[in-house]
Amino acid sequence: MFVPYLLTTLSSQLTSTVKHFVHHEKRPKGSSKGQPPKEGERKNLIGGNWKCNGTLASAKELIETLNKGGAIPATAEVVVAVPFIHIPLVLEKLRDDIEVAAQNCGVNEKQGAYTGEICASQLVDMGVTWVVIGHSERREGFGMAGEDNELVAKKVKVAVDAGLKVMFCIGEKKEEREAGVTLDVCSAQLAPAAKLLSKEDWSKVSIAYEPVWAIGTGLTATPEMAQETHASIRKWISENVSEDVAKAVRIQYGGSMKGSNAKELLDQPDIDGGLIGGASLTADFVTCWSSVACAES
Ligand code: PEP
Repeated sequence: MFVPYLLTTLSSQLTSTVKHFVHHEKRPKGSSKGQPPKEGERKNLIGGNWKCNGTLASAKELIETLNKGGAIPATAEVVVAVPFIHIPLVLEKLRDDIEVAAQNCGVNEKQGAYTGEICASQLVDMGVTWVVIGHSERREGFGMAGEDNELVAKKVKVAVDAGLKVMFCIGEKKEEREAGVTLDVCSAQLAPAAKLLSKEDWSKVSIAYEPVWAIGTGLTATPEMAQETHASIRKWISENVSEDVAKAVRIQYGGSMKGSNAKELLDQPDIDGGLIGGASLTADFVTCWSSVACAES
């Protein structure tokens, strides 16, 4: 008698907890200011990458900080890429105008015997709308085998097919920039994806150009340097995918972007947002999204 009662109670509690997390209709309302982009203009994508940081307590604090961050310019779209384990919390508590991303997903298209992996369709099921793929830290491998250009491209395709939007990271290392092969490196990273993605798929992809030497180092590409590389990436897309895709695709800059340098980077014509690591863990992230130019309404 007692055991079935306990089981029923436990199972109804579990169901309500799961519902609580998955049905996140009660997220606090966000707010927007200014004029949206004009026809044909690209909306800036401001991504925060929390990496493998945070506890439940610190994630709650950060969510509070972002919730109190005030209006988001109508020319910007904001998304935070959080550790898998914090996704349910963020989907429940974060203001509803900031989207939620995972920082990786499996190359496996379906659920199954892939111990330790999380697949794109599971993220969609949870309510996640974006995923970061091919971050340089994952390409490098931090003690495990890193991800090569082909694997990254397959993941981008699998994620898009599952219904996710993708921040697709590319970028050169210090020695590659010094050797003058930045664009060769970026095109080698883009080419396998260009083979797999249809033109329609590209509308779900934002390229995050992140020079590896600028990530987490405090070194930032100058706005001119970043603009030059962004323009050459866009030219590559125009020549190797299509002119329309090149006009529409967003290219975010990543590499020690913070409140104090965001504006001059974001003001460049081919920089359409940022992917922000360290500064996304503090209120400085609000300064970054507030730096997106926006005409008053
Ligand atoms: C990143 O994580 O993608 C990144 C750019 O980090 P940071 O802003 O700390 O350099």
